[in-house]
Formats: sequence, structure tokens, C-alpha cells
Amino acid sequence: MKIKIIGAGIIGLTTAVHLAELGHELVVIAEHFSPNTISNKAAAIWFPFKAEPKKKVVEWSKQTFSKLAEFAKDEKSGVDLVDLIVFSDKLAYEKEWWEDALPENALINFNIRPHAKEYTSFYMLKAPFLEPQIHLGYLLNALRKSKKCRFEERRITCLEKESTGCDVLINCTGYGAKQLLNDQDLIPVKGQIVVLENDGFSCFYIDDVVETEMAYIFTRKDSIILGGTAEEGVENEFVDEEESKKILDRCIALSPELADKKIQNHYAGLRPVRKEIRLEWSENKRILHNYGHGGAGFTLAWGCAFEVANLIKELG
Ligand SMILES: Cc1cc2nc3c(=O)[nH]c(=O)nc-3n(C[C@H](O)[C@H](O)[C@H](O)COP(=O)(O)OP(=O)(O)OC[C@H]3O[C@@H](n4cnc5c(N)ncnc54)[C@H](O)[C@@H]3O)c2cc1C
Repeated sequence: MKIKIIGAGIIGLTTAVHLAELGHELVVIAEHFSPNTISNKAAAIWFPFKAEPKKKVVEWSKQTFSKLAEFAKDEKSGVDLVDLIVFSDKLAYEKEWWEDALPENALINFNIRPHAKEYTSFYMLKAPFLEPQIHLGYLLNALRKSKKCRFEERRITCLEKESTGCDVLINCTGYGAKQLLNDQDLIPVKGQIVVLENDGFSCFYIDDVVETEMAYIFTRKDSIILGGTAEEGVENEFVDEEESKKILDRCIALSPELADKKIQNHYAGLRPVRKEIRLEWSENKRILHNYGHGGAGFTLAWGCAFEVANLIKELG
């Protein structure tokens, strides 16, 4: 089939790679490509966060986990499997709502008091962790190599108009769908990140006990990513210096070694949160929507790409 994909973030590119593998002829059209998408700003750990509906999210996260675990065997992919520690304030272990998405025995619970702050327990899991710049580049390369895909860098203003001249158009515009479709169910949830220099430090921690005051620390080769914030309804990407200071303080409380590290950068991005991820056909079955992945685009991308492919296959 001749398929147009609008959007070149993690959702558009993953969808494109899967459809190219199935032999479809593709055009990927996007206003921005890597490194200028929201996907480039993600911390990019596999962790279902701010995405609904839960049942589907568990299924899609599970499929994505196993695909990312395969990628982790290729060092060029920008995907690693890391020991992620999640701190908790629960006295007794409570199952996470997304735990069935994990491979068997992947999560180990420790009912002991960790060293930091007032946590009562923590658990550990092997989780996929991505470096967005590298991984998006890797997907783009796969598409170039497939010879099944052309790219066009431009903004589109009408999906209906754009859907002529192809069999199916897939809308992977993320937060861009708000303006494109006037989708009032799509809410921005601003996330801010502080980047520190890294000289060999390694640590993967999450504390989301209080969602509005969460702290996470993820180490990349040359940098340390500190988060975070989740400001619902805030639509600007300005860096708030006060917020950066609070993020630093929370992360230093988790890992005091960070106090000596130099700040490299700060930035903010908007998570495309929707009451439910929109993965469905338009009425005339020419446009297939795939957007609204909230704080979990990297956690869900492959599961959603598989579902897109199944829906297209059903067309016959
Ligand atoms: C601070 C922060 C931390 C995060 N951490 C994680 C994490 O650890 N794990 C995780 O799984 N997720 C995380 N996320 C969420 C993740 O980044 C998003 O879910 C994901 O990037 C959404 O991908 P997307 O491809 O739908 O959107 P985008 O990356 O925004 O891509 C949209 C694409 O559509 C194009 N587009 C939009 N409108 C138009 C138009 N009108 N015409 C043409 N092109 C258009 C854009 O140019 C772009 O190419 C985080 C997000 C933030 C902000």
C-alpha cells in the first residue's frame, strides 16, 4: 500500500520502520525531524507514565519491552537494558498497575529501608533505556536503508487534503494534533529536565511517590539526566530556573554524589497527554490516528505500531 505518515517523533518513525518491514511504500512528512521533536527531549526510560487506557497500555508496553530488549543487543541502536531502582513509600509491597507488562521475574521487590530520604522500600527491574538522538537516528537510517521511504520536511494544515494520493494516512503528530484537529482532549503536561556533566557515574533511580515532586536520575555516556516535573495544562516550554533548582535538590537528596557535578543544560518539553491514546480510524477509514502517548511514547511505540499494522491489514 501507499502510506503517508505525518510525524517523525518516536511514534511516527517506529510506525514507519514496522510498515517498511512489511513492504509498504511510505512517505514520512514532518514539520520537524530529530533533533527538533519532543521525542528528542524525553528521558526515555521504559516506564508507563501518564498514558491511558491502562489495559491497552499494559499490552502495548509489553510488546514494546520485548522489541526494545532485542534492540539492546545492537550497540548502535541507542537502547540499553539498565538496572532501574524505583523508590516507594509503601510499607507493604503493592503491585504496580503495569506490572503484567514485564517479562516474568523481571521485578524484584525489597522490603528494606533504602539509604536515602524517608522511603520504606524499593524495587528493581531491568528496564530498556534509550538515548533519543541515537535511537531516532537509528530508525531514520533503517528507513533509508529499506528504500521504501521518502521524507518531506513541511508543516501540514489539513489531514483530509493530505490524505489524497495515498491509500492510508497515519497521523503521528503528537501534541501537534491539538492544533491540527482542535482536539480538546489533548492536554500538555510540561516536563523539565536538568542535564549534568558525567565522568563515569552510573545510576538509574525513580522516585514518583509524589507525582508533582518526582525525582529521577538516569545516566547517559556523557551526561546525567535529572527530572522532573509534570505540570498539567502548562503549554510553554520555557525553562523555569526555580524549578531546576528544586529538581537538583530532590535528586541530590536521592544521590548526594550529584552535588559536585557541573550543570550542562536545562530544557522543557510538553508530554502529549490524552484521556485515552487515540489509535483509531477516521470515519472514512483513510486516516488512522496514532497520537496522545503522554509520558510514555518510548514505552508504547512498538505495541502501537503493531496495532496500526493490524488495522491496515484488516482493510484487505
Ligand atoms: C521531559 C519529558 C520526559 C519524558 N520522558 C519519557 C520517558 O522517560 N519515557 C517515555 O516513554 N516517554 C517519555 N516522555 C514522553 C515522550 O517524549 C512522548 O510520549 C513522545 O515523544 C511522543 O512522541 P510523538 O512521536 O507522538 O510526538 P513528537 O515527538 O512530538 O513528534 C511529533 C511529530 O509530528 C510532527 N508534526 C506535528 N504537527 C505537525 C504538522 N501540523 N505538520 C507536520 N508535522 C507535524 C512534528 O514535527 C514531529 O515530527 C517524556 C516527555 C518529556 C517532555
